[in-house]
Amino acid sequence: MAAEIIDGRAIAQAVRDEVRADVAAWVAEGNRAPGLATVLVGDDPASAVYVNGKQKASAEAGIEGFDHRLAHDTGHEEVSRLLQRLNDDPAVSGILLQLPTPPQVDGSALTELIDPLKDVDGLTPISAGLLTKGRPGLRPCTPAGVMELLRVAGAELKGAEAVVVGRSKLVGKPVAALLLAANATVTQCHSKTRDLAAVCSRADVLVAAVGVPKLVGAEHVRDGAIVIDVGIHRTDDGLVGDVDFDAVKDKAAAITPVPGGVGPMTIAMLLVNTLKAARLQQAAPGVPA
Ligand code: NAP
Repeated sequence: MAAEIIDGRAIAQAVRDEVRADVAAWVAEGNRAPGLATVLVGDDPASAVYVNGKQKASAEAGIEGFDHRLAHDTGHEEVSRLLQRLNDDPAVSGILLQLPTPPQVDGSALTELIDPLKDVDGLTPISAGLLTKGRPGLRPCTPAGVMELLRVAGAELKGAEAVVVGRSKLVGKPVAALLLAANATVTQCHSKTRDLAAVCSRADVLVAAVGVPKLVGAEHVRDGAIVIDVGIHRTDDGLVGDVDFDAVKDKAAAITPVPGGVGPMTIAMLLVNTLKAARLQQAAPGVPA
C-alpha cells in the first residue's frame, strides 16, 4: 500500500497562518509586535539564504525584523557585545545567531550568551535542560517541526515504539526528548549502533536525522510505520533525504518527502517560538517556569 505523503509545505503554511493571526491578536491587545533579531557573521551564501528566508517569513507574520549582518572578519568580542545589546533590547523578543560562524568566532560559546527567554533556536544549555527536565521552554525549531508533522499526521505516540537515528544536539537529542515527553518508548541510534536495520524495524515512528543520503532503506522500516526524514542533501539527482524514499514509500503508512517535508517546518516553528518568547518575557522575567 502506498504511504500517505505528509505535506510539510501545507502544514508549515497552516502554522505560519496561525502565527500571523496570533500576532495580530497580540498586537490588538496593546502589546508591542514580537521582534526577531538575526545575526549573520560573514557572507556564506547558504547562510544568507536561510537568514533572508527567516526575515521574510517573520515580516509576513507581522514580526518585526532586526537583521544584523557583520563582516566575515568581525571578532568574537564584537559579536558578543551585539548579543548582549540584543539581550537588553525590549523590542527584541528572539535572537538567532546563524551557524556556522567563521573560525575566529566561537558560535557555540556565543549561543550560550543568548538570554534563555530570547532563545528562539532552543539551543542554549538552559533550553536544553528545561527540555530534558520536561519543563516549559523554547524548543529547537526542527525537532518542534517534526512533532508538529507527527501531530497533524495523527501519529499515536503514547506507548508507541519510536526510533530516532542520530544524536546531534540540534536534531537527534531534542527529537528523542520530545518523543519521550509525548510518552513514546524511545530508542536512540547513532554511528556505533549494532544492526541499525533491526533496531529501526521495531519502530512505529522512525525519525532519520543522520546526514547520510538514503541511509534508511526498506530493511529499516516496519510495515505501517510513520517515517520522518530530517535529512537534506543536494545531489546530482536533486535534493534527497536520509531515507531512500522510493524504497520505503510502499512499506510505510506515512512518510515525509524531501523536499517539502521537515524543511519548511523549521522556519514555521521559529515564528511560533518568537511569539512564544514575547509572551514568556511579558509573563515572567527570568528563566521559563
Ligand atoms: P549531525 O550533527 O552530523 O549528526 C548526525 C548523527 O547521525 C550523529 O549522531 C551520528 O552518530 C549519526 N550517524 C551518522 N552516520 C550514521 C550511521 N551510518 N548509522 C547511524 N547513525 C549515524 O547531523 P544533524 O545536524 O543532526 O543533521 C542530520 C541531517 O538533518 C542532515 O542531513 C542535515 O542536513 C539535516 N537537517 C535538516 C534540517 C531541516 O530543517 N530540514 C535541520 C537540521 C538538519 P554519532 O553521534 O555516533 O557520530
